[in-house]
Amino acid sequence: MAGDTPAPQTASGGDPQAIAEYHAHIYYDPAVSRGRAARLREQVAARFPTARVGRWHDELVGPHSQSMYQVAFASELLPSLLPWLMLNRDGLTILLHPQTGDPRADHTAHAVWFGAVLPVRLEAFGKRSAG
Ligand code: ZN
Repeated sequence: MAGDTPAPQTASGGDPQAIAEYHAHIYYDPAVSRGRAARLREQVAARFPTARVGRWHDELVGPHSQSMYQVAFASELLPSLLPWLMLNRDGLTILLHPQTGDPRADHTAHAVWFGAVLPVRLEAFGKRSAG
C-alpha cells in the first residue's frame, strides 16, 4: 500500500503454522538478580519437564544485550507456559519469540517482551543494520 511502511518479509509469511517452537530468554544481572533467575529456572524445569533449559550465559551471546539463559519449548506448551511466566517472572525481563526460520525477525518484529524491552544486537544477524 502506498504510503504505508511495508511489513517485513519473513520466512513465516505471517502464518503461525511456521512456528516450530518457542524460546523464552530469561535475562538477569549476575550481580543482582541471578538468585531470582535460578529460582525461576528450577521452577520451570520442575513444572515443564519437556521444556529444554539452556546454559547460563553470564557473558553476552548472540543478539542478547544482557546475561540470560534460554528455555526452548514446543508450541503445545505455550498455553500453559506463557501465563505461568506472566505470573512468576519475579521482576525479571523475558523475551519470548517464535522460531520461524528467520532469526532476525523472530528476535525483533515477532518478539514479545515481559517487563522491559531490551536492545537487540542486530549485528549478530549479519545482514542489514536496520530492523
Ligand atoms: Zn532464541
